[in-house]
Amino acid sequence: MKDNYLQSSIEYLKGVGPNRAELLKSELNIHTIYDLLNFFPFRYVDKTKFYKICELKNTKSYVQIIGRFTELKYGSSSRNSRLMGNFTDNVDSIEIVWFKGQKWIEKSIQINKQYVIYGKINNYNNRFTIAHPEIEIFDNKNKKNQGNLIPVYSSSENLSKRGVNNKLFRELISNIFKEFKNNLKENLNRHINEKYELITRYQALYGIHFPKNLIILSKAQFRLKYEEFFFLQLQFFYKNQEKKNKFKGFLFNKVGEFFNKFYHENLNFELTNAQKKVLKEIRNDFASEVQMNRLLQGDVGSGKTIVALLSSLLAIDNGFQACIVAPTEILAQQHFNNIFESLRNIDLKVKILTGSTKNKDRNILLEELKRGKINILVGTHAVFEDRVTFKNLGLAIIDEQHRFGVKQRSKLWKKNITPPHILVMTATPIPRTLAMSVYGDLDISIIDELPPGRNPVKTVKRTDANRLKVFKFVKEQIKEGRQVYIVYPLIEESKKMDYKDLMDGFESISREFPIEDYQIGILHGRMKSKEKDFEMKRFKENKTQIMVSTTVIEVGVNIPNATVMIIESAERFGLSQLHQLRGRVGRGSETSYCILMTKNQISNDAKKRIDIMTKTNDGFKIAEVDMELRGPGNLLGTQQSGLLNFKIADIINDKEILKHSRNDAKLIIKNDPELKNLENKEIKKEFNRINETSIVWKFIS
Ligand code: ADP
Ligand code: MG
Repeated sequence: MKDNYLQSSIEYLKGVGPNRAELLKSELNIHTIYDLLNFFPFRYVDKTKFYKICELKNTKSYVQIIGRFTELKYGSSSRNSRLMGNFTDNVDSIEIVWFKGQKWIEKSIQINKQYVIYGKINNYNNRFTIAHPEIEIFDNKNKKNQGNLIPVYSSSENLSKRGVNNKLFRELISNIFKEFKNNLKENLNRHINEKYELITRYQALYGIHFPKNLIILSKAQFRLKYEEFFFLQLQFFYKNQEKKNKFKGFLFNKVGEFFNKFYHENLNFELTNAQKKVLKEIRNDFASEVQMNRLLQGDVGSGKTIVALLSSLLAIDNGFQACIVAPTEILAQQHFNNIFESLRNIDLKVKILTGSTKNKDRNILLEELKRGKINILVGTHAVFEDRVTFKNLGLAIIDEQHRFGVKQRSKLWKKNITPPHILVMTATPIPRTLAMSVYGDLDISIIDELPPGRNPVKTVKRTDANRLKVFKFVKEQIKEGRQVYIVYPLIEESKKMDYKDLMDGFESISREFPIEDYQIGILHGRMKSKEKDFEMKRFKENKTQIMVSTTVIEVGVNIPNATVMIIESAERFGLSQLHQLRGRVGRGSETSYCILMTKNQISNDAKKRIDIMTKTNDGFKIAEVDMELRGPGNLLGTQQSGLLNFKIADIINDKEILKHSRNDAKLIIKNDPELKNLENKEIKKEFNRINETSIVWKFIS
């Protein structure tokens, strides 16, 4: 009966009624009583303490101060400009600002009257300020509030206008608790409850809405965060093993002539230990008769391509075809050239398919592909099209996976009745925690070592004032036989202004580096792919020394003789882009340089990005900072980021909880794959419930 109660429509809760129910549904997606119970406060007003102004330390924290306004004045002569108030606790003072509703504030505040203000501290020009604080007249009632953490629920203008505010939320939720007293069903098992000394589910939900003190609040938060991570991870592991039971993978148990010949006679370097380890993991998958779904992460330049090629050769040795898909034509072309060259002594057919493949060639290619005449197909998105069919695709590799969506991965799946083994590769190092929560359905391999002899790229920040020096340095490098990239921002390839920047830049560089002494190439998204190939080829052959380009060279391009990467307007690039671009140099044994050109004045976030770039070459560290700056959702495509809309957990701050819950979930599925054991009964129930109600979970392929 109690389960039914929670699942009943929100309008039956005392205090709601049909109108408010409509509002709650449309504005907050709260449909049932259960939804409301799981609508958590997004912060708590800590009215347990009154601060002295001299005690203020951390910006971004919320504080409560007793004091009085000594004056109110406008930021400039205009009446709409910001209103500033000087607020003092009789010892120190702090500035309070309003950007909206100034007139009303001006009217309602009385100078020198005692108020309690509550708000978030900011640091502006080295002074603490608070914008738009909550303000109450100080009387003894304020004192009574002491000892309380007051929950604050997120609301919208529309809601508060119609009386759906904090006070109402508190009332409604307390009504829920009155109804079902103390008997909310558990949803984990005894082992987990004991291991983390969890409070009961009832206590957790009560504690999150009405915390008596910080200790109870943090216990409640722990439990609810744990639950949230745990059930997502459980879902991943459950789906994984289900998939493995359903689809038998192709068995590649042979290491045959193609692999051996290439490995022993044509590979002109020794694999790093990390590459060997990853190859072993892939071979284990191949030998297991279970379809592989593996994510290969490795920083730029760590040598993922050779792993892709060797894996493809294994597929071919076992009688299958392989394909490698890249996000740009330039990269696809590079892979093709590289593989074609690597296999020149080996009797295999490699072909390339992109959007600009001529119809006539395409038809021949499609025919050959279907008849199994082509062993390795390299291509772009064009490969996903339905008309592209294989005779027997055994292995599909997606390079720079972050440029594709989940959907595209599943398109490759469908190229056969038995899905091919899938290897997705990415150099945008996704923070491990993020990888765990988003790619939880993939097994992860990591290349955590660069080929020997690489020196870290030296990275510096420069402004226009240093331009002559920068050019002088470029000339020296070219004299030594090295090559140089100069990259201009081009966020969308069609943007006119960016195009102009590029062309202006090209011109001024042409003036600085006269044609008698230097050859300069140019590369951008508006060029035909023939022209792009031509320019790339000339650069590769060192016929041009300087490549002026947009971000079309961002991913994957590999020209080891290039040692200088100049990024213009670096403040306009995101971190992962900067890191990717820098990854174009430092690929040979010569010391390489990355010069980040910026304006004199840049935003704080831009400063942080440039800073971390100059401090480290470690892609994982950079990814962590990126995630902190942008929030996890923005690091990935839309569908995937849906998985990251956690209600309470936070993959940055709650990494440890994520790790624990993941291990626990894994173990449970290992011991009880179908969740049939009695001790997992509650888990199974909750699992089914979420499965039925969550839209996002359906995206987990
Ligand atoms: P990424 O991981 O960024 O895709 P690539 O596969 O393009 O990196 O490899 C970068 C460069 O390193 C290539 O020139 C490749 O031939 C070279 N390389 C790869 N593995 C090794 C190795 N074990 N020893 C020496 N050079 C290697
Ligand atoms: Mg690559």
